[in-house]
Amino acid sequence: MGISSPALWTEFFERYYREEINKLAYKIKSGGDGRSIYVNFVKDLTIFQEGKLGEELIENPDEVLQHAEKGLANVTNIYGVSLEGCKPRFYSLPTARKVLIRDLRAQHIGKFVAVEGIVRKVTEVRPRIVEAAFACLNCGSINMVQQEDSQLRQPFECSKCHTKRLIFLPDSSVSVDSQRLKVQEYPENLRGGEQPQTIDVVLEGDLAGSVNPGDRVVINGIVRAKPRGLGQRKLTHMDLYLEGNSIEVLHQEYEEFEITEKDREMIMQLAMSEDIYGKIVRSIAPSIYGHEDVKLAIALQLFGGVPKKLPDGTEIRGDIHILLVGDPGVAKSQLLRYVHRIAPRSVYTTGKGTTTAGLTATAVRDEVDGRWTLEAGALVLADKGVALVDEIDKMRKEDRSALHEALEQQTISIAKAGINAILRARCALLGAANPKYGRFEKYTPIAEQIEMSPTLLSRFDLIFVLTDEPDEERDRKLVDHILQSHQLGEMVERAKNVSAEYSEDVIRAKAVRIEPEVNPELLRKYIAYARKTVYPILTDEAKKRIEDFYLSLRSRVKENSPVPITARQLESIVRLAEASARVRLSDRVEVEDVDRVIRIMEKSLMQIAVDPETGEIDIDLAYSGTSKRQRDRIMVIKKIIENLEPSYEKGVPEEEILAEAEREGIERSRAKEILSKLKQHGEVYTPRYGHYRLVTKV
Ligand code: ADP
Ligand code: MG
Repeated sequence: MGISSPALWTEFFERYYREEINKLAYKIKSGGDGRSIYVNFVKDLTIFQEGKLGEELIENPDEVLQHAEKGLANVTNIYGVSLEGCKPRFYSLPTARKVLIRDLRAQHIGKFVAVEGIVRKVTEVRPRIVEAAFACLNCGSINMVQQEDSQLRQPFECSKCHTKRLIFLPDSSVSVDSQRLKVQEYPENLRGGEQPQTIDVVLEGDLAGSVNPGDRVVINGIVRAKPRGLGQRKLTHMDLYLEGNSIEVLHQEYEEFEITEKDREMIMQLAMSEDIYGKIVRSIAPSIYGHEDVKLAIALQLFGGVPKKLPDGTEIRGDIHILLVGDPGVAKSQLLRYVHRIAPRSVYTTGKGTTTAGLTATAVRDEVDGRWTLEAGALVLADKGVALVDEIDKMRKEDRSALHEALEQQTISIAKAGINAILRARCALLGAANPKYGRFEKYTPIAEQIEMSPTLLSRFDLIFVLTDEPDEERDRKLVDHILQSHQLGEMVERAKNVSAEYSEDVIRAKAVRIEPEVNPELLRKYIAYARKTVYPILTDEAKKRIEDFYLSLRSRVKENSPVPITARQLESIVRLAEASARVRLSDRVEVEDVDRVIRIMEKSLMQIAVDPETGEIDIDLAYSGTSKRQRDRIMVIKKIIENLEPSYEKGVPEEEILAEAEREGIERSRAKEILSKLKQHGEVYTPRYGHYRLVTKV
């Protein structure tokens, strides 16, 4: 026999929740929303009656929640308002009552549990009938029928006159707001391509509509089971779902990391070591040979810059976006997978996406109940972490257009049917792309090779091109490195499965080169710690250094020559330099940070933005695929057409244009190329074959 009774709950509320109850009564009196009292389980229910009442709530929630609701209704308040129908909601359950989604079992059915995860889908909020009214057409009496399932239950006959002619009265029925969520386990807890497990949650009353996709939440509620199958054909297999009693939205970043005093000591020691950058670089995918610049860039991405909100309300992202473009088989995918393992929080996906929501987010109509559902994609799920997107060049059209907003404003706006939402996507993106011609072509602009628009490309702080050009010295080392890894792997497997003929020492010696210098566990904590506690500030010297770099590049710009660097790169440098300071756990961004970043930035620019004709860095070339010189030539050609147009009513003959271009110093073949490009882009048209006219004046 339990101790729970409405009277005992009244006593509990009067003892611990007087003030809250008066506040609630005031809210009700003044017509405000909300009919809930929030009870802190750990704080109050583990003390009251030596925790017995709390235990009963967990073991027998259906009955005990009814007692609690009745008990609450009987509590007096200073406004004399009735608390009938107010809901007691319980949060902060003991850790022992927290269950992982993948561990939910038959034993939990009907019990009160806490489940933590990330909201993946929400339906729109719609009323659900809890008590349906049916009028008898014979005697006119109203029959009320309690509803539990999603299918409307009808009375068999009128309870008064026993005839069977009844009609449903929606307006006299009792409804509550209702919403369904899909909650998924944390993506960073999945290892090696596991499919995330999910649980459906039903929220009613004032809980409905209180969370968004991407939110990290604890749902406290009762585990329910529903037979599978539709309509009459129910199966004995059951689906579990949660009936939510309360939701806690988690706000803190990286709170899942417990950093002990011992950890802190190790982190401090590491931060002071001489070659901390090298150490971290050697701890990122050590089985992958080379790519040191990329690894350093990734390290900076993991630590991140400082997100800022300026006094005028402008928000500047601290997240660093990196794009790897390159030949097949150069370990792009491997790198991404490794980052997934060390990032404190990350989501791994491919451009094609594995869910309907793909990279960003989408609103779809539910096939079963016709309700609109908002589903979060990878970038929303990666909020406050890293989104790893392999084969990003294959992403869908919708994602392509949403990505601009997602990368710069770090939000995703959805406006469709009944759903209007702005979801947060405060993540850093690490993308990998394969050029569409199979191999990277040195002289073809990136924008063209991976079909990403120049504006989208310019959102990336760093773009690296990884090519696979034969180089005897490098190839020899690469082969050796890969074979060593395989040999080591073979020995470990043999020792594990057959016999230990290779001693630990032999294996250890082989492992040295392939083992991360800082173990992944510690590295994750180090990153989480730095992101949470280090907020560095630019020193005047560092500021000066950035200024000088920026101005010197700009000053190299001769009249009429390409603009090598824009304010976007300036912001990137600041972000990356802040990240570099964070690596040392330094509160100051020093000149050394700026130098480190300039070196990486120049390398990246040299790979993507050097005009092969002049050897100069040209940002336009990288992003738009058109260099300054090319643009000048385009202008010349257009001018030629414009000038000749009055003499040729049916279009200027190609031969005339080419001859004129030649006089202006543009080779015929090049001029021909430009003409066909202009036609492709709809800037000129051909009223007759081989005859050109401008679409708009120059
Ligand atoms: P990508 O995604 O660039 O096409 P993958 O990541 O699939 O390439 O790599 C192909 C294979 O080649 C992987 O098994 C990877 O480990 C190996 N590989 C390629 N480059 C290197 C390298 N530099 N060091 C070690 N292994 C490499
Ligand atoms: Mg790949």
